[in-house]
Formats: sequence, C-alpha cells, structure tokens
Amino acid sequence: MTAEVVNTNELHKLDPVFGQLSFDNHEQIVFCNDKDTGLKAIIGIHNTVLGPALGGTRMWNYANEWEALNDVLRLSRGMSFKSAITGLNLGGGKAVIIGDSKTQKTPELMRSFGEFVHSLSGKYITAEDVGMETADMDIVRDVTPYVTGISEERGGSGNPSPITAYGVFMGMKAAAKYKFGSDVLEDKKVIVQGIGHVGETLVEYLSNEGAKVIISDINEARLEEVSKKYGATIYRGSDLYSEDVDIYAPCALGATLNDDTVNKIKAKVIAGAANNQLANEVIHGQALKERGIVYAPDFLINAGGIINVYAELENYGKAEIMRKTENIYNTTLEILANADTNEITTYQAALNIAQGRIDTRKKENMNK
Ligand code: NAD
Repeated sequence: MTAEVVNTNELHKLDPVFGQLSFDNHEQIVFCNDKDTGLKAIIGIHNTVLGPALGGTRMWNYANEWEALNDVLRLSRGMSFKSAITGLNLGGGKAVIIGDSKTQKTPELMRSFGEFVHSLSGKYITAEDVGMETADMDIVRDVTPYVTGISEERGGSGNPSPITAYGVFMGMKAAAKYKFGSDVLEDKKVIVQGIGHVGETLVEYLSNEGAKVIISDINEARLEEVSKKYGATIYRGSDLYSEDVDIYAPCALGATLNDDTVNKIKAKVIAGAANNQLANEVIHGQALKERGIVYAPDFLINAGGIINVYAELENYGKAEIMRKTENIYNTTLEILANADTNEITTYQAALNIAQGRIDTRKKENMNK
C-alpha cells in the first residue's frame, strides 16, 4: 500500500490493537475464540500496579469487532481509575463477549469463557456487567475461582447493582449540594436514562426522597413496570437531552455526552451509573465545565459495585460495604472542589488523583 492511499482517519485499522484510539498502554489484551460454543470474547487488562485487574464482563450485540475492541479498551481503562480513586488494591480490567445475551448466552458459552479467565491465573478477575446475571457468574465459578459477584448461596456478595445505585445516589447528592447548595433531592426533576439493574434502584432512592423522577428506556415493558412501582413519569419525547430537568442520570450505555448532546443539555447536574459517559473526556468534559454543568465523574460515583465485589476478596461485610459506598459522597465533594480550585474539569480532577495513586504505588514497587 502506498502512502497516498492511506486515509489517516483509518490508521487505527492498520494497527488494530496498539493503534486503536482507545489504547492506553494496556498491559495485555486477550482474544478468546471457541468455535464449539460460539464464544468470541476480548479481555482487556489495562493496569495491574495496584492489584489484579478486576472488572465485569459485558455481553453485547456489537455492530462489529472494532466496536467491541474499543469498548473493552475504554472500559478496562476506566476500571483502573475507578479502583484507584476508591482506594481499592485492584487493577483495571474488563471483558466483552460479542453476542446477544438474550438469545446467544448458554451455560456452555459461559463455561468456555470461564476457562479463558482461568488461563490468566488470577491476573484478571471477572464479575457481571451489562447482559450478565449472578447466575452466569455461578457458572463461571464452576471452572475458575477468579470470579466475583457470585450468588450469596455460593458464598458470594450477590448482585452488585443495588450497591452501585446507592453510590450513584450519594454522588448525585454531593453534586446537588455543590450546585444547588443542598443535597436534598425532594422536588428536584431527575431524568434517569436506562432503568435496568442499577437504574431501577436509583429510581427507588429518588422516589423515596420525593424527587420528580422521569424515566427513559428502550424496553417498553420495563418502563411500564418501573413507572407503576415507583410512580415515575415515562419520558415520551424524542430528545431527552433538551428536557428541562435539574439532574440527568445516564444509567444505560456510555458516550451519551458527545458532540450531539453536550451543548443542548439543560440539566445542571449530571450524575449516573453508566461507564464512560464522556465520548471524549477532554472535549466534552470541557464543554460541560464551560456551560456550568456539574458533572460527577462516572468512575468515581459508580464504584459501589466494585466495592461490593471486593468484599468477596477481602472478606469484609455489608456494614463496611455500605460505609465505603457512602463515602463516595465525601470523595465527590472533594473532587468537585479540587476541580474548581485548579480550574480543571471534574473528570480531570478525578483522573489526576487516581493516576497519582497508581504512580505512587509503582514507585514504591520499584524501590522494593
Ligand atoms: P442493565 O443492562 O441492567 O440496564 C441497562 C438498561 O439500559 C436496560 O434496561 C436497557 O434497556 C437500557 N438501555 C439501553 N440502551 C438504552 C438507550 N439508548 N436509552 C435508554 N435506555 C437504554 O445494566 P446495569 O447493570 O443497570 O448497568 C447500567 C450502566 O451502569 C452500564 O453502563 C454499566 O456498565 C454501568 N455500571 C453498572 C454497574 C453494576 O453494578 N451493575 C456498576 C458500574 C457501572
């Protein structure tokens, strides 16, 4: 191929892994293929300085392999910072399985995936993410000990989502305190996008506090169910970003804060569970800052789930899980103040602290 015919926008496709835009010096990327069960998975190990790379497995019907690779690279990197900022001795990793979790997930496929996880000898520890259930982790547990989020009957910590929702609620309250001067969410208009495992519990917390909750999802049956259960209003418009609300809670998939949305968002606070909400951390983080929108960094406030599964490794109980998760409130307030003082985005402030912890440990390890 001559230089003239290379489209520079396509260069990352010539170097499909190390050249990916989302590649951030990841330590190891493992491609898992098992023809018999139809398993096609990618495990991303971003950083193991603080400990083994722990992060959930997502099963998603990706449009193509590029999308899956990009997702696992972004997600595993996010996990490094999530554990670092939460003070856990864990590195960052994540796995994606390509396929429809409703129609293509079988016990054989999950077992095969578990065997690949096992082959990494504990460098990567898995858990559930979108498209996965506690029961799936129980199947993985049959073939490897390197899995968390297994059922309580099998000695695990069970479904992490309610704890994640509690942490998001704490982070949201802290961001509200920063923006509105009070963390009481009564009468605040909050739109929750995605009312799955985490979103539903968040709706419950918000409703209990008297917030005016609006819900959005692509699953009509869920909308009806959650609306009935908590008295939430179903969003029927076509552009929820332009909706006049106080708080926007992204709890579906990532990258909803992007070129098309950041300039029309009317919410004054953004706080949700979804990973990688900023399509571009620098550009979109800055756009929100300039518009005076308080963005509670996703990897900071959605750490409840990892705190919960970490308990399985460290043997601490529910009370400590709740204490650590509640502390997300204080950390969020600190990060928001830090961003203001240093005139940087809230995302950057969180990233600096997380990266600082990893760098310090790396130096300590080198001096041992
Ligand atoms: P889930 O699969 O249970 O729920 C996601 C919901 O979003 C589903 O109801 C789905 O129909 C809906 N959805 C998908 N696309 C949508 C769209 N375009 N508009 C509106 N709704 C849409 O997942 P979950 O476990 O609740 O996780 C939600 C998010 O939080 C994910 O990004 C996940 O990575 C992140 N997260 C989850 C945890 C956890 O403990 N489960 C922890 C940290 C981060």
